[in-house]
Amino acid sequence: MDPVRRMAELRRIIDHHNHLYYVLDAPEISDAEYDTLLRELEELEAAHPELITPDSPTQRVGGEPLSAFATIRHPRPLLSLANARNEKELYEFDRRVRNLTAGQEVQYVLELKIDGLAVALTYEDGVFVRGATRGDGYRGEDITANLRTIRSLPLRLRGDAPRLLEVRGEAYMSQDAYLRLNEMRDRKGEDTFANPRNAAAGSLRQLDPRITAARALDIFVYGVGLCQGRDFASQGEILSYLREAGFKVNENYVLCQDMGEVMEAVRHWDSSKRRELPYAIDGLVIKVNSLALQEQLGATSKSPRWAIAYKFPAEQQTTTLEDIIISVGRTGVLTPTAVLKPVSLAGTTVGRAGLHNLDYIREKDIRIGDEVLVQKAGDIIPEVVRVVTGARTGEEREFTMPSKCPVCGGDVVRLPGEAAHRCTNMACPARLQESLIHFASRNAMDIDGLGPALIKQLVERGLVQSPADLYSLDREELLELERMGEKSANKLLRALKESKERPYDRLLFGLGIRFVGSRVAQILASKFASLAELMAAGEEELMAIPEIGPKVAASVRRFFAEPRNRRVVAGLLAAGVNSGAAGQGEGEPQPLAGKAFVLTGSLSRYTRGEASRLIERLGGQVRGSVSRKTDYVVAGSDPGGKLDRARELGVPILTEEDFVQLLEEQ
Ligand code: NAD
Repeated sequence: MDPVRRMAELRRIIDHHNHLYYVLDAPEISDAEYDTLLRELEELEAAHPELITPDSPTQRVGGEPLSAFATIRHPRPLLSLANARNEKELYEFDRRVRNLTAGQEVQYVLELKIDGLAVALTYEDGVFVRGATRGDGYRGEDITANLRTIRSLPLRLRGDAPRLLEVRGEAYMSQDAYLRLNEMRDRKGEDTFANPRNAAAGSLRQLDPRITAARALDIFVYGVGLCQGRDFASQGEILSYLREAGFKVNENYVLCQDMGEVMEAVRHWDSSKRRELPYAIDGLVIKVNSLALQEQLGATSKSPRWAIAYKFPAEQQTTTLEDIIISVGRTGVLTPTAVLKPVSLAGTTVGRAGLHNLDYIREKDIRIGDEVLVQKAGDIIPEVVRVVTGARTGEEREFTMPSKCPVCGGDVVRLPGEAAHRCTNMACPARLQESLIHFASRNAMDIDGLGPALIKQLVERGLVQSPADLYSLDREELLELERMGEKSANKLLRALKESKERPYDRLLFGLGIRFVGSRVAQILASKFASLAELMAAGEEELMAIPEIGPKVAASVRRFFAEPRNRRVVAGLLAAGVNSGAAGQGEGEPQPLAGKAFVLTGSLSRYTRGEASRLIERLGGQVRGSVSRKTDYVVAGSDPGGKLDRARELGVPILTEEDFVQLLEEQ
């Protein structure tokens, strides 16, 4: 292909992957593959500099900020880093630095390259006022509220603070937190994140800070973009200051006197050593220590000339895909998994890789017997990157989804518009087992001691055919199970008894209704005082709730219309599980009874829905428009015409503080 066409094609492909990675936090190809494409473009551009366009991905940083967030213009651009893939390229970097600084003495600081999301944090007179993503390097997204939820981020600096300080760092998610999050998402049938970086980026770029707060994020800072009221001479000094000021600075940085010391540190981390870290790193960053020299070296439009990222070799291997097996989940979804000829990746032996669904297999054209390139995304979950089609012999077999469930023999269907195939048999033991695991899980009924292994036994022995049966288990039955002593049996019975008292939104979540996660369950429980009321509600009534859309409403209706599910619920009620029927909502004081509220503008502490529920819980009503019958208008920031109307009619207006105070008084 002629270079002009290839360059245009590469730009199109790279832009596409940039969008997936930076804007949607959902990359489709591995970083190594992306880097190869970018390198190819860089090399073509180096050979044909006249063809470089200002919008080429080689000239630009990151992606456009998401329009859902306010935009923050960075006082100084947040750039990317040039890459070195091997020691030779590191020495070339050192040579360039020396040439440009005319033989002055150069020391380097070597730091870990944390694989997360770059953020810029602004402090005025020592107080955290603003935080932004890197965005396209010049304009980032305002994620101040979300950053505030990160506990290790100081809201106020220690010691004498400069008047203005812009600190740069990397927000990240630890390996443990990432695994836990994905496990939970998987259990809820939600999409999982490809790696800790995407999980961190996806969690920070949430419109609702409460979601961010629930995700265990952390932050390491490594630089200063702008500082007024204090001078620094070196990167080393900056790191020491940041630590003194109360930031979390990664302790693994080294001051290197020369390239020999840099290489020693590179070799140290480019080994199994980095896998001992509780967070993911994708390389090392080597920076010129002296800020005067940094200034002299300057930057290109994309990256500073005084720093380079050493990228670890990708953790990829080719191996044979020997078979594709199927497992059946709680919602009956059949998930295909690749059985691989065991291969060593990132220090562990990998024998399986998730294949998601049939579309995924078709898209990648994966066949049984293929040679495949596998990698551990973010060093954790093995995935098939692609098929090595050149190695095909013609013996490979196409995979087809079974038409009968491999566990129970029930019919398998694919609903229109869905990627997944499902077993239609509600009583399929695999589905039952998974739904019991969900029912007993922490955010649902939280039944201590009722884990997957025990559930498997209970199902296999036919002791439990629905969640309701759990409550009729008796001591004798339990004692006959494997590895079940007196003590554990008693403990389990106690845990089961205790679980009956859980708030009824937990029961609702535990029923495993599609699209009803714990948040939706809470909303439903706040609107319907009991499960019986919810079961009687029509689709329209459900959709009248602002947060409930047609998908959820239809799913709830469908669930309760199913006779088998109604029997399970009846069984649970008969067992005495709290379903909100008695007590809940009743007897609570109703100090706002008869009072009509109108909400306008946005509140910083509550969403519209939460504020409404608080008012309603105290007996008040929330109306959509202001009239003479309105008792209060609650005005948040950017209020609309309702505020003018309230003033016209002389209706009392509450600021957010007034409103909070009113609630607290009640
Ligand atoms: P980069 O991630 O290679 O390097 C720059 C970033 O490193 C900085 O913005 C900062 O966030 C981070 N960093 C971490 N620790 C640091 C430290 N101690 N000092 C300084 N910076 C530190 O560059 P980039 O422009 O953010 O992104 C390019 C990377 O993203 C490449 O690895 C590329 O493979 C990947 N990418 C992948 C896809 C894909 O589809 N898979 C698409 C786009 C980009």
